[in-house]
Formats: sequence, C-alpha cells, structure tokens
Amino acid sequence: MSTHEHHSITLSDYNPNVNFIDDKAIWQTIEDASDPSREQVLAILDKARQCEGLSISETALLLQNQDKTLDEMLFSVAREIKNTIYGNRIVMFAPLYVSNHCANSCSYCGFNADNHELKRKTLKQDEIRQEVAILEEMGHKRILAVYGEHPRNNVQAIVESIQTMYSVKQGKGGEIRRINVNCAPMSVEDFKQLKTAAIGTYQCFQETYHQDTYSQVHLKGKKTDFLYRLYAMHRAMEAGIDDVGIGALFGLYDHRFELLAMLTHVQQLEKDCGVGPHTISFPRIEPAHGSAISEKPPYEVDDDCFKRIVAITRLAVPYTGLIMSTRESAALRKELLELGVSQISAGSRTAPGGYQDSKQNQHDAEQFSLGDHREMDEIIYELVTDSDAIPSFCTGCYRKGRTGDHFMGLAKQQFIGKFCQPNALITFKEYLNDYASEKTREAGNALIERELAKMSPSRARNVRGCLQKTDAGERDIYL
Ligand code: SAM
Ligand code: SF4
Repeated sequence: MSTHEHHSITLSDYNPNVNFIDDKAIWQTIEDASDPSREQVLAILDKARQCEGLSISETALLLQNQDKTLDEMLFSVAREIKNTIYGNRIVMFAPLYVSNHCANSCSYCGFNADNHELKRKTLKQDEIRQEVAILEEMGHKRILAVYGEHPRNNVQAIVESIQTMYSVKQGKGGEIRRINVNCAPMSVEDFKQLKTAAIGTYQCFQETYHQDTYSQVHLKGKKTDFLYRLYAMHRAMEAGIDDVGIGALFGLYDHRFELLAMLTHVQQLEKDCGVGPHTISFPRIEPAHGSAISEKPPYEVDDDCFKRIVAITRLAVPYTGLIMSTRESAALRKELLELGVSQISAGSRTAPGGYQDSKQNQHDAEQFSLGDHREMDEIIYELVTDSDAIPSFCTGCYRKGRTGDHFMGLAKQQFIGKFCQPNALITFKEYLNDYASEKTREAGNALIERELAKMSPSRARNVRGCLQKTDAGERDIYL
C-alpha cells in the first residue's frame, strides 16, 4: 500500500435534522435492563470475549448490574480484550492549545466567553513553533491541536497553524508526524479544507447527548445548536476525513444514558458512513476557573464508576481506540490503561503557550487544572516498570493509508499485532535513544528484549533489523 492512499467512504443519505438519539428509547432500555440476573451478566461477559462487541441492550445490562462480585469479572474480560487486540502498547500524544479565544459559553469550560478573568491568547506562528519545539524535545511525535470556537480560529487559521506544526524539525529525529485536531464543527466545505492540512483524527465531543441538558449548559454561540454538533462527524466523513473521534463529557448527565447514546452515535456512523469512530474519549469534568458548574458537576462520576464505564466500553466496541487525557491522576490512569485505554497524553499543558510558560510557572490561562503534572520521561518510566507497557510513538497506519474503514478491517482481522507491535518497538527505541533518561533507557531496552522474545523468530529478526538501523541513526522507520 502506498503512502497516503485513501479509501473513500460512501455515505448513505442521512437527514441532519433528525435527532437519532431517542431519549425515551434509551431510558426504556435502561429501565428494561434493571436488576439483571447473574446468569444474564455472565452470558454477556462470555459473549464479549469473542471480541465482536455488544448490542445496546446488552451494554445496558452490564451498566445496570449491581452485583459487585461480577465487576471483577467485567474488569478481567476488559483486560483480556485489551490484550488480545492491542497488546501492551500505549500510544502517546500531547495536546497543544493554540487558542483560548472562544465566542461560546459552555458553563463547564474555563474558556467560556463570559469568563473575563481568563487571559486570552491565540498563538502566533512563531509561538506555535516554540511550543512544538518543546514537545519535540520531550520526544513527542503526535499532537492534538486544540482551539476555542471563535472567528479568529477559522479554518484558514487552523490549517495555517497545523502547517506550521508539521514544519518544525528540532534536533536529530525531532518532528511531528501526526496532528489530530479538536476544534468546533464545520461545514463540509471547511472540513475539506481542514483535510488538506493532512490531519490525523478530527475530534469533537458531543459533551452530553441529552438534548435538554445540552441546552442548559450551552448558553450562547454556535455551539448551542445540538444537531449541528451531532452531525459533525457525518460532515467530516463526507468531506473525506475518515478518522473521527467522539466523546462525552462525563458529569453533565446520567453516565448510563451518555454511554448508551454514545454507542448509538457509533452505530449511526456505521450505518450512514460505513465506519464508526476511530476513537472515543472520556473527559470527566475538572474544576475550571470561571466555571461554577465545574466545581460540583451535577452528575459527578466517581473513580469506581469511571472504571466500569471504560471497561464496559472496551467490551461494547473492542476495536475503537479509547483515549485518556492528563485529566486523570497517575494511579487511575494506570488502572484504566489495563482496562482498555489505548492512548494517553503525557506532560500536558492546557493553556496556549503553556509549555513555554510552565518553565516560568504560569498557569493563569489554563482551561482546567490537571491531575498529572509529571514529566514525560517519568510517565514513560512508570509505564514500562509498573505496567509492562510499551509506549508507542507510532504514526505508521495513518501515513500508510490504514485509516477509516480500511483500518477497521485490519483491526478486525487482528492484524494490529503485525504492524503496531513492531512499529511500537521501533518508535519506542527512537525515543529511548534520543530523549530518555539513563534509567528509562535501561528499563525500556530490557522491555524491548522481553517483547522480542515473545515474537515469532522471523518477525523478531525483522524487527531487530529495524532496531539496529535505528541504533545506527536511521529515523522514522515503520512497517
Ligand atoms: N472549542 C471546541 C469545542 O468545544 O469542541 C474544542 C476545544 S474544547 C476546549 C475541548 C473539550 O474540552 C470540550 O469538548 C470539552 O469536552 C472539554 N472540556 C471543557 N471544559 C472542561 C472541563 N472543565 N473539564 C474537562 N474537560 C473539559
Ligand atoms: Fe469554547 Fe469549546 Fe470551551 Fe465551549 S468547550 S467554551 S466551545 S473552548
């Protein structure tokens, strides 16, 4: 397959004026699932082991299960699925907040237009370059570029900022190889323009799928339009962006409703666009300056409940990447990783210019406060030594055109091991050689040896060859 080969998606007709989230039907499903028997739950867990996903009503039964002793089994099935499909890789990325200018008023977000305390900033191109250079010096290869919704963050500005990010080459192998984007939804025409910047995933969260709640927390600006946001991914796919990422902001409404509605969104995309989302994100509301609601979210999700949400999602959509942000503490991230999370951010800052400013300890432009402030190298060290996980900086699939429906096809055939495991080791080796501390390098190299020992002799030989080339100074090798 050639680089950047594309697999166009054929969309069936869809009506963007119809809310495919049927509140009543979802609540009925939740009610019908109340108090499931032990046998019912065990049967679903057994089915989930086949890695073929779960229906909405099966998922509801797991959500409604009250028998704590079955939770351990749920977690163990989630771990099993994570291992079968993803192995012990964990993809690393860093967010880059380009602009906190925002014309909307989302009551949970520190960037809301009514927050006059916030220092507003939109990075200029040379400031973007500085931020990217710092991220490259940490060893990052993947960025999630984040923008408030504001006329100054129009598609032209976003495209220009992304081009700048890709252009920064810092040091020997320092370069950003994949940029995912989290910005306001656009028209099909604008999405087409966004695609020209060679973005990876387009990410946009519905926040809450419950339309009444949505109206209560989105007080002004374009984001008040629930349906325009609900169909954002349809439009993105129509424009040819075939990796999209969805999510709900947990804490705004009942988590059971949100999860089932999010799965309904997945099914709708599969039906209308032929492929579901590439990733699902799980932000939980964090306290943010200038947002009263964020201090005490109406439907706060505690850690135990959050673990169940992640595990149940792993069972329901085994092939969709699950993203965890810096928003979670180190201890919880470790657990969630085992339960099915496949991508995490590390060393993150959530203010425009935050990487530069953190050297000076300025935190007054942040969107929300973070649970994990440790530096990248420490996080990598912990992943390797505590979780036996391989931090992966791989961007191979997207650059080889393994995206959208094609990627899902590969995943479903469990081919991820064929490409991803070797690529993870090769990119991790790059990280170890170029950026790691002595102790991380030692622990990382030992992990690579353990992984090679698990591979078939021919694959191990192939990977070893790539690792030797990496040691000899070659960079950006991928299968
Ligand atoms: N302005 C764009 C939008 O709203 O889609 C993109 C940027 S916005 C900062 C990205 C995401 O941050 C939102 O979709 C929301 O889920 C999340 N977010 C906002 N406030 C948050 C908070 N207090 N805690 C955690 N996540 C939050
Ligand atoms: Fe603006 Fe997005 Fe924050 Fe809403 S969530 S206030 S749209 S940056």
